[in-house]
Amino acid sequence: MLPEYRLFINGEWVATEQKDIVINKATSEPLGEYYLAGLVEVEAAVTAALNAFRREKIDPYRRYEILKRASELLLERREDLALTISQEVGKTLKEARGEVSRASQTLLLSAEEAKRLQGEIVPIEGSPGNANRRAWTVRVPRGVVCAITPFNAPLNLSCHKIGPALAAGNAVVYKPASATPIIGAKLCQVLADAGLPAGYLNMILGSGAVVGDALAKDERISFYSFTGSPEVGLRLKNSVGFRPVTLELGSNSPNIVHSDADLSLAVEACTRSAFANAGQLCISVQRVYVQRRVYDEFCRRAVALTRTLKMGNPLDTDTDIGPMISEAEARRAESWIEEAVAGGARVLVGGQRRGAWLEPTILTDVTPPMKVCTQEIFAPVFSIIPYDTIDEAIAMANDSRYGIQAGVFTNSLDVATRCALELEYGSVIINDVSTFRADLMPYGGVKESGTGKEGPRYVIREMTEEKLVVLRI
Ligand code: NAP
Repeated sequence: MLPEYRLFINGEWVATEQKDIVINKATSEPLGEYYLAGLVEVEAAVTAALNAFRREKIDPYRRYEILKRASELLLERREDLALTISQEVGKTLKEARGEVSRASQTLLLSAEEAKRLQGEIVPIEGSPGNANRRAWTVRVPRGVVCAITPFNAPLNLSCHKIGPALAAGNAVVYKPASATPIIGAKLCQVLADAGLPAGYLNMILGSGAVVGDALAKDERISFYSFTGSPEVGLRLKNSVGFRPVTLELGSNSPNIVHSDADLSLAVEACTRSAFANAGQLCISVQRVYVQRRVYDEFCRRAVALTRTLKMGNPLDTDTDIGPMISEAEARRAESWIEEAVAGGARVLVGGQRRGAWLEPTILTDVTPPMKVCTQEIFAPVFSIIPYDTIDEAIAMANDSRYGIQAGVFTNSLDVATRCALELEYGSVIINDVSTFRADLMPYGGVKESGTGKEGPRYVIREMTEEKLVVLRI
């Protein structure tokens, strides 16, 4: 019998009338069955969250203890969680272990923030006629936070929402991606085992298309934290009216390699990062701009390194690249490669697909109208594009609808400073790739990549209201 995963509402595991199967992305074999939420369960989950929030305030130090214990439990259960992620997503076991360790850090960082929520003294007595008043701000939880997460880093990205929301004193309604319900259920169990009171975390499984509008329209939800595609993010933003929302969306990240850079470092970092998680990261290396003087050498070395990477079973510890999330997604990426080739692009290495496995692929001679340049490919594919001057590289890098992170490789202080100032991205990473992320840093994009910052210390500001108190003496 297949294991069964239920919704988590008000501290109970809840079954419904309808079930679906979650498959192992490498073998297509069923991993388990999960129950699908409908509108009734959305209503029950929001009610449970609101009741918990109103009934039982959790002291900041208790929130710290719960999140810290949950962080420890993630490490204690690391092997099982990593196996689940690897099977549900298709990501390699070594990457999945890394994700569990990062998720543990994210909860620990969130725990620390529970103790640091502070307001400020407002020197109101300095304004005319107010010498007899004092004022200060406090940060108060917003109430019910809705966390909607994607498939590609299902544990850590969920912790980036649930951790800070709970640290701030909110209650949560959580909707993981349909491709990865099991890791969502295991995260709920971790938080329950860590002592989180019933109702503070509620999980809705099932299709976003079915429950999405109900979540967006439920006025009892005070804040939305969404990570996923720009299309769904925009739809959510348009539905929530005046209520605040943070959106962490897609990108087609540029990386600039100037001729004075450490070329070995740049080749190694760009190539490996482009293919991490089969290229399914919002900050994956997608466009690599290489100064013409070192362009041929960069291409030669990147191709040679790519040929050494092993595509295969994600559970084998020497596998570098597993399957994409589905054969349909791999076919879509393959069709974008074909479109680029028809337009004059060349495949330097890779390009072939077997089921959901797309070979790590490097393209060159690409031009902006091609989808591989202008849209988010979200697959193990990157393009190498030559440039002459740094002005040209910055202009090409900025020619995008997106803007989460950009990478720059250079040993020139001048080039590094110019890129830091002129690249229109949420972060500019110098001498490392756009894919770099430490979980404590402020993280978020500009343009169509979203609004708001993640990183527990930063998002907790958005997940709380700044309330002013004025005291007349
Ligand atoms: P997606 O299709 O947009 O799904 C994201 C989440 O939204 C899933 O839980 C999905 O549920 C749900 N959803 C779907 N339709 C909805 C609706 N109408 N209302 C509310 N929720 C709805 O994205 P994905 O394919 O899982 O993930 C890939 C995307 O995420 C890429 O664009 C990637 O760049 C982006 N991403 C961004 C970041 C970042 O930090 N900026 C990080 C990781 C990924 P179902 O699964 O049930 O459809």
